[in-house]
Amino acid sequence: MDNCIFCKIVRKEIPCNKIYENEDILAFNDINPAAPVHFLLIPKLHIDSLVDIQDNHQNLLGKMLLLVPDLAKEQGCEDGFRTIINTGRVGGQEIFHLHFHIIGGRERLPVMIHQG
Ligand code: AMP
Ligand code: ZN
Repeated sequence: MDNCIFCKIVRKEIPCNKIYENEDILAFNDINPAAPVHFLLIPKLHIDSLVDIQDNHQNLLGKMLLLVPDLAKEQGCEDGFRTIINTGRVGGQEIFHLHFHIIGGRERLPVMIHQG
């Protein structure tokens, strides 16, 4: 994906504040953090969005999910965190390369969606 900003980060064409990398997965700090800890976990493989995942992504997605608690703890989320995947227009997705937001810090995060 030539013009995808996260693919460019994967290819090291633009810099990121990397916190983790393996063969298939990259994690880096969000450029506009919503809380003291806010990093993004992405597959190196370009997948537009959560609605585009396929059966053959199972292993990759499982590996990503398994990394979340370890990385969150490593980044200072000792007592919980929030994991968000914005999807599509209604979900407010801005960058169409699948990514998990991991957000936390010391303080309790605000309620995300108010009911009623
Ligand atoms: P989303 O609305 O879920 O698509 O979120 C995209 C996120 O990517 C936002 O939180 C942005 O702050 C973040 N972001 C955009 N460009 C960069 C970048 N170059 N490096 C790190 N984070 C970025
Ligand atoms: Zn991409």
